[in-house]
Amino acid sequence: MALSVLSVVSEIYPLIKTGGLADVAGALPPALAAQGVAVHSVVPGYPAVLRALEGAQEAARFDELWGGPARLMAGRAAGLDLFVIDAPHLYARPGDPYRGPDGADWPDNWSRFAALSRVAERIARGVVPGYAPDAVHAHDWQAGLTPAFLHYTPGRPVGSVMTIHNLAFQGQYPPRLLGLLGLPAAAWSIGGVEYYGGIGYLKAGVQLADRITTVSPSYAEEIQTAAGGMGMDGLLRQRGAVLSGILNGIDTTVWNPATDPALPAGFEPGKLEGRGACKLALQARLGLTVDPGAMVIGVVSRLTWQKGMDLLLGALPVLLGEGAQLALLGSGDAGLQQGFVAAAAAHPGRVGVEVGYDEGLAHLIQAGSDVAAVPSRFEPCGLTQLCALRYGALPLVARVGGLTDTVIDASEVAVAAGVGTGMMFAPVTLEALEAAIKRAARLWRRQATWRTLQANAMATDVGWERSAGRYAALFRELAGVEAESVIKVVRRPALVGAAGFEPTTPSPPD
Ligand code: ADP
Repeated sequence: MALSVLSVVSEIYPLIKTGGLADVAGALPPALAAQGVAVHSVVPGYPAVLRALEGAQEAARFDELWGGPARLMAGRAAGLDLFVIDAPHLYARPGDPYRGPDGADWPDNWSRFAALSRVAERIARGVVPGYAPDAVHAHDWQAGLTPAFLHYTPGRPVGSVMTIHNLAFQGQYPPRLLGLLGLPAAAWSIGGVEYYGGIGYLKAGVQLADRITTVSPSYAEEIQTAAGGMGMDGLLRQRGAVLSGILNGIDTTVWNPATDPALPAGFEPGKLEGRGACKLALQARLGLTVDPGAMVIGVVSRLTWQKGMDLLLGALPVLLGEGAQLALLGSGDAGLQQGFVAAAAAHPGRVGVEVGYDEGLAHLIQAGSDVAAVPSRFEPCGLTQLCALRYGALPLVARVGGLTDTVIDASEVAVAAGVGTGMMFAPVTLEALEAAIKRAARLWRRQATWRTLQANAMATDVGWERSAGRYAALFRELAGVEAESVIKVVRRPALVGAAGFEPTTPSPPD
């Protein structure tokens, strides 16, 4: 029997993406299908998602979903099985999933994502005829209320997994919203949704899900400490027995240097001529001096404090002093954007910066850089260093979270043993970053050693198979299905017509 899982998520690649969450949400379903787990994803009906939906059928209807009616559309897009919440009053807006064009969070995000979780609970409970998932997989705070709705609403029991992709985003709202969420008074407790005097969406999920995962083993440890727990470490320690870290992978068909359409030339381990062409193309594209001998340090990142981008800006004099070039693509904090743009203007040919979001350039940077810098202050898993490994750019990373779990530091011992894949530094300070850049430059001057490290990097297993197996085991455990009994055939549940009306509006506050 194939297992059926409902994934609850606020962004999904390639339909809508602001970061790694979307990559994971888009890559896990095909990886799980290979493990005999059929995933349907329920996502908000942003315009881009509704546009992409093929063969959409109305699967359910909600008369009132926090301010208006909604339809649940079932269909496929980009190979994914989707339930899309068509609720124009909540999701038909410009901007990214969370913010308007002015960059400010939508003031009704509390209801936009409560709706996502409530609809997920309704689906899990059978609102779509013929569909009954064995487990629910909630991603991040936007889906955090799903385990709470499952817990406080009667219905068939369905196990839930809460995955923390980034503990920094918790979804905290004022207590006066409790009644508007349709949760019973009993939910207002330390064992429920209450969190430091407010309502915590992620906290609710962490509290009430049957299993909790996060995206790397090291981050699973860090978030249980006061230093890394961001206020939730006590609860995470308390739930430690059901908390585990499952490392993210990347979609190795999207990130395949041999076939990548964004590159001027393909390459693969042992056949790196095309990589040289990518480097020259990258240098030309970003206005860098075209020079195969210069070490290019690439960055594809949100420009934020978390990502240590202020440290990178501070380390520029050392980077330039070592004769390296910087190729940076990113967007985020206005101050950091301005800082990098000013650096590019001050160092023409040495610092190339593009502010914005550009998938194609992100691929070219990974393919054309020699080093990929990820100096994050904390990093749940990090995907860009995985892309870099596959594309033969040596990650230069802070020793935090998933970066620790995915890169082998090229210490002299590791180099002698022939096992390094990148450069790691700690603590996350300017001085340590500068020292790591100097170390990278020394290694760059030892080209034979560099080639060995690069070959090691490219041989690293960065795909999803192993981790998808771990998720599949977790779902099976929740569903009480023995692994041995799973037949590796993926069944697509039939969606027959529209379901009946299901009011989901909670009672007004008392
Ligand atoms: P985050 O914390 O931002 O989710 P991850 O490393 O987990 O960090 O994932 C970031 C993802 O977003 C990667 O796929 C990366 O290539 C992509 N990305 C980040 N910034 C940009 C950008 N400016 N343009 C294109 N892709 C980007």
